Amino acid sequence: MEEEIKTFKDLTEEVIEKGICGKCGGCVSFCSAGELNALEMGKNEVPRYIDEDKCLKCGICYLICPQTESLNEELQEKFGWRPPVGDYQRTTSAQTTRKEIEKKCTDGGVVTSLLLYLLERNMINGAIVSKKTGRFARRAIVARTSEELVEAAGSMFSGSLHLEELGGEYTTYTPILSTVKSLEKGYLHDIAVVGTPCQINAIRKMQCLGIIPAHLIKYTIGLFCIENFSFDDVAREMLEKKLDINLEKIVKLNIKDDFVISLTKGVTIHVPLEEVHEVARPACFACKDFSNEYADISVGGLASPDGYTTTMIRTGVGASVFNGALSHGYIKERTFQNADENRIEKTKMLAKIVSFARRKRMRAEKRLSK
Ligand SMILES: Cc1cc2nc3c(=O)[nH]c(=O)nc-3n(C[C@H](O)[C@H](O)[C@H](O)COP(=O)(O)OP(=O)(O)OC[C@H]3O[C@@H](n4cnc5c(N)ncnc54)[C@H](O)[C@@H]3O)c2cc1C
Ligand code: SF4
Ligand code: SF4
Ligand code: SF4
Repeated sequence: MEEEIKTFKDLTEEVIEKGICGKCGGCVSFCSAGELNALEMGKNEVPRYIDEDKCLKCGICYLICPQTESLNEELQEKFGWRPPVGDYQRTTSAQTTRKEIEKKCTDGGVVTSLLLYLLERNMINGAIVSKKTGRFARRAIVARTSEELVEAAGSMFSGSLHLEELGGEYTTYTPILSTVKSLEKGYLHDIAVVGTPCQINAIRKMQCLGIIPAHLIKYTIGLFCIENFSFDDVAREMLEKKLDINLEKIVKLNIKDDFVISLTKGVTIHVPLEEVHEVARPACFACKDFSNEYADISVGGLASPDGYTTTMIRTGVGASVFNGALSHGYIKERTFQNADENRIEKTKMLAKIVSFARRKRMRAEKRLSK
């Protein structure tokens, strides 16, 4: 018997009503009835039917949603997935060689350096990155120049709160999928994307289905992600009281073993992740992927010393980009005293990634079993 196609109705029941929609916008942006206005992002950025009768019942929205299990078996097979963190060739710590990136980057500036390498060698003509637009606001853009790439580096929070942010939602999550959709209308042909595991998962599903313009994405750089945050004014006040800080004084946020908050005057505080769970996005508790298992290269700050990016080179495409950037002097790897130290440090690095990945998977399984 033919399997019944699941539609937005099923997505509503299985994802949205269960409170695990990540608000990525993929279903709305890629709805086959886009021109017919079947779907829209409703209140609080939750997708909904505008007119159910206009739905073509094609099932695309369900298939590409990162919160459903659809196509996961196909992806596992295609990427040679293996437990506990997916396939990878090797892990290492690396850093940028460029001063202008070092000043702005989150960890070692590897992401921006790899993108610069690709752009300056004409291997891409654009990269989807997240640009700071306000103190707690970022927007996905297609960076087409080296300057735009460097501008988007890091996770710095400078300047005072923008007026449009007051009374709004503060969030560390940047929806990038509508920007992927907009590539369809442009002249760009080879694109790199930086994204969270849920975003890369949706892109891989689109590539699996041959959905245009996902074929333009030639390189995926995946961020590690334990969770993202979203909060309003009320939660902001609660957070300030709880952590005993003024959010206006934050100059940089980072997530490594814990939540790392850098304040003005060089003060850094470490907050256990459990302490900020109240402002994490609910969908993140149902998400199983920490280390961005389907990216070409996965990156994070976890398990590397300050100033370095932990880098998992996963696919052949990822290896050629990393090795190219290394040999052309865009990045350099962390060096060790001898082979033994190298082996011990890399084993410790992998063990930490695995432990975070297991912790996240267990948390999701618990949430999904409710
Ligand atoms: C929301 C978020 C959660 C993260 N969680 C973890 C974690 O739990 N553990 C961990 O080890 N690492 C985490 N990381 C990754 C880590 O913070 C660094 O981004 C990573 O180590 C790369 O550092 P870099 O210096 O090489 O990157 P950089 O050279 O500074 O470049 C960073 C790139 O990320 C892009 N970017 C910034 N914010 C976003 C966003 N919200 N969505 C999509 N792209 C964005 C920028 O545009 C830029 O291209 C997270 C990153 C983000 C953005
Ligand atoms: S037309 Fe297709 S993508 Fe759009 S809502 Fe219906 S099933 Fe989903
Ligand atoms: S997670 Fe994304 S694709 Fe899935 S229902 Fe929510 S907005 Fe749509
Ligand atoms: S934890 Fe990260 S990857 Fe998972 S849903 Fe949240 S933002 Fe997306």
